[in-house]
Amino acid sequence: MTKKERFAFVLNYFEQHAPNAETELLYDNPYQLLVAVILSAQCTDKRVNMTTPAIFKKYPDAESLSHATFDELFPLIRSISYPNNKTKHLIGMAQMLMEDYNGEIPDSVSELVKLPGVGRKTANVITSVIHHQPNMAVDTHVFRVSARIGLTTNAKTPLQTELQLLKYIPEEKVHIAHHWLILHGRYVCIARSPKCGECGIRPACKYYKTLIKGQ
Ligand code: SF4
Repeated sequence: MTKKERFAFVLNYFEQHAPNAETELLYDNPYQLLVAVILSAQCTDKRVNMTTPAIFKKYPDAESLSHATFDELFPLIRSISYPNNKTKHLIGMAQMLMEDYNGEIPDSVSELVKLPGVGRKTANVITSVIHHQPNMAVDTHVFRVSARIGLTTNAKTPLQTELQLLKYIPEEKVHIAHHWLILHGRYVCIARSPKCGECGIRPACKYYKTLIKGQ
């Protein structure tokens, strides 16, 4: 199977089986998504979703968050990983949004990455989820699943994975392909023990091929 055929199989499979895949983070507007994605670094979406309602209630927009003090915000974030840094990042992010962007969330990766707490992955998530821009956010699931299936070859960094995926995924499908790969990694192609027995990607998966060869 060529790489092109492998991509075609995988994209077609997900299109049939998960046509409406989307982020599991709960949000109502771009501001809320940005806060949730910053909080989700090294943390589960489930845990973030337990935390954000209280934050959004107290700080419904960038302006209110920009006036928050560390001591006011920290208790709402305490149960999440890296609460110190994330508290500082959220306040700094909101202050910069108010000072430089009139309280609006920028719609380009190059502007988003200027905000505290926002790296390339977060900026790719925001622009692909909100604006359906063809930007591929590579988290640990996307990185692992892409390598296992054989969508990427010898990718050593998230950026290498991103570039290899973008080479083969049609632009209009990139935003949803991001969710397909994340959800597949979260529920089927699990890090420690992939559930190959119940996986529809098997016919195209390099890892599975090696697995059955070794039996
Ligand atoms: S066959 Fe196994 S390794 Fe391949 S994608 Fe499915 S779960 Fe992952």
